[in-house]
Amino acid sequence: MRLAVLTSGGDAPGMNPALRGVVREALHRGAEVVGVSEGYAGLVTGGDHLRPLRSRDVSRILARGGTVLGTARSAAFRTLDGRRRAVARLVSAGLDRLVVIGGDGSLTGAGVLVSEWSSHLSALVEAGELDPAVAEAHPHLHLVGLAGSIDNDLVGTDRTIGFDTALHRIVDAVDALSSTARSHQRSFVVEVMGRRCGHLALAAAVCTDADVVLLPEAPPTDWRTTVTEALKRGRERGRRRSLVLLAEGATDRDGTPIAPREVRAHIEATLQVDTRITVLGHVQRGGAPSALDRVVSGRLGARAAELALGPDPSPVLVGTDGRELVVRPLLDCLDATTSVGAAIDARAFDQALAARGPEFADLLRVHRSLDAPHPPAERRLLVAHVGAPAPGMNAALATLARLGPTRGRTVLAAHEGLRGLSEGRVHPLDDDTVEGIVGEGSTVIGTNRWLPEGPEEREGVRRILDAERVDEIVLIGGFEALEAARRLADLGRPVAVVPATISNNVPGTDRSVGADTAVNVICHAVDGLALSAIGARDRVFFVEVMGRRCGWLAETAGAGSGAELVYTHEEGVDLERVRTDVRRLRSEFDAGRTVGIALVADGVPTPWDTATLARVFASESDGRFDTRVCMLGHTQQGGRPAPADRLAGALLADGALAWLTASAPGKAAVVGLRGGLATAHPLHEVLDAADPTHRRPR
Ligand code: ADP
Repeated sequence: MRLAVLTSGGDAPGMNPALRGVVREALHRGAEVVGVSEGYAGLVTGGDHLRPLRSRDVSRILARGGTVLGTARSAAFRTLDGRRRAVARLVSAGLDRLVVIGGDGSLTGAGVLVSEWSSHLSALVEAGELDPAVAEAHPHLHLVGLAGSIDNDLVGTDRTIGFDTALHRIVDAVDALSSTARSHQRSFVVEVMGRRCGHLALAAAVCTDADVVLLPEAPPTDWRTTVTEALKRGRERGRRRSLVLLAEGATDRDGTPIAPREVRAHIEATLQVDTRITVLGHVQRGGAPSALDRVVSGRLGARAAELALGPDPSPVLVGTDGRELVVRPLLDCLDATTSVGAAIDARAFDQALAARGPEFADLLRVHRSLDAPHPPAERRLLVAHVGAPAPGMNAALATLARLGPTRGRTVLAAHEGLRGLSEGRVHPLDDDTVEGIVGEGSTVIGTNRWLPEGPEEREGVRRILDAERVDEIVLIGGFEALEAARRLADLGRPVAVVPATISNNVPGTDRSVGADTAVNVICHAVDGLALSAIGARDRVFFVEVMGRRCGWLAETAGAGSGAELVYTHEEGVDLERVRTDVRRLRSEFDAGRTVGIALVADGVPTPWDTATLARVFASESDGRFDTRVCMLGHTQQGGRPAPADRLAGALLADGALAWLTASAPGKAAVVGLRGGLATAHPLHEVLDAADPTHRRPR
């Protein structure tokens, strides 16, 4: 079987990992793969634009932005004749299976090609340009689409390829602007991409604690008043930076575009503050794909190849719903996408918002309610961390500090975990404490692994909870937080756990706060290691990563960094496995490989620790390669939080407050992410699903 693959329309970081997934999976299934360069333009032209792709053609492209196949916009493909030529190129190369990686325009074009396929074949036969037997051998085009677009504007997948990377670029830029803005007490108006879709702007607003965000789907009744009031409130609260994020396609309710310079003029006229405009432009599209865009796109590509090589010719889109891959009818997804645009044009904003899905709605609700009025406080909420620090903990803290008072809470923080609590180190978590922290790694209130043991220590904690009149508790932490919650719930207060650990070893959530940052840190480090070996000796790096006996971090970073080998406690290591892996690497280096990466979870069973593996491989390589050990250590815990971890922190903090509002004393729950939404699970169910010996889900 033969499969064609192309990238088309606007480029998006993550197209390369998707392409790699398509090619490797198709080859693995015994198919031949043809790469079409320059999108539909290449397909219409044919010739050298169609080339076989081998496994090594997609080596080391995970870290590269854009698309190595090239992409283009093709006017010819918009014409019937152009598409007929494209069909002729495909069938004459024996191709009737195609994966298209592109935006809604490209996928619409692909849909048109499918619907016209047989009429093009008949016309080509009739014109004598195609052998009837060849036409008969290719009655259908098996088409699979992957949504490549930084805007996240396609209905049918909760994430498009490139969205997470673009969010990284925006958040990095706004973090940088924020430090200079705070120094000078400046206001910034930042325009981000998104003509018809405000998801980038909204997510960036939550990740950077913007004062206002203006979106195509949800224009305020009067944007000028909204901006002035939000900025005034911020300054009254002592903020030194004011930030308005503006989606490219933001309009007022009548559909008149809002230009950044109008926003600036309005701020300067009403608030008399120095205001700067930054239009982020194409930097948002560029650069190395984020870890999520590498890992998820690789899986999407593999599934697309599997489906395109399968028996069913119905055109489908492969997308994601949380961590699951979903397969949906392509044309339905395109119709639904078109109707969102139509709803925005018709100013049917409720309809447009509904189509954006529940995560968008949650983010919008959370962002809008941060500044809501404070009703009289009727409950006292205590927040504490348990276990190691994780990037994104600050986002959860800041959200609790800001949302709590809007929901009738006084919010208190225990400093340095339950140890600090037992010593009475409890302070109000106020605006000053959380100002500007969403972008900072670790946690401003400190954390600790200590748990109260025995009746005396528990009584000590109870006394402090009574003295501080604590009604309810949120614990933000890792595996230890489950046991901590069990013990604190026995003291008669409801306890919500927000899972936060880079190991992602807590059951009850798709993803813990902090895990995505750690995977990014590892991928970035491995990118650097691989480049360092260029021009050096042939080399295999053994990179030790955290996670102990939970191999999630090692496996996920392995997928994101293209590691040749991953060693985890779950899979185990023995002499037989090492022998097989050494043989495999030896033959790959014989065939021309010059660098190899092995990720080793720090909990692999003895005696196969990282240094031992590296020594054994070096001595067994027979001079083909040397080995080096790299211990990433605590760099994995301390990084600036990745956008996905900031979003998780904010959404889970909101979910914890919602659960507490409806709960009763003595109850405990883990509030985790399911399909991008905060979802509470009773603690006893989560404990049943946990393996305490190995500290991972069963
Ligand atoms: P994106 O895929 O990023 O949305 P475009 O909208 O520019 O980018 O589409 C990319 C290409 O897909 C176009 O240049 C054109 O060749 C093809 N295309 C887009 N829409 C159609 C259509 N309605 N019919 C046929 N081809 C189309």
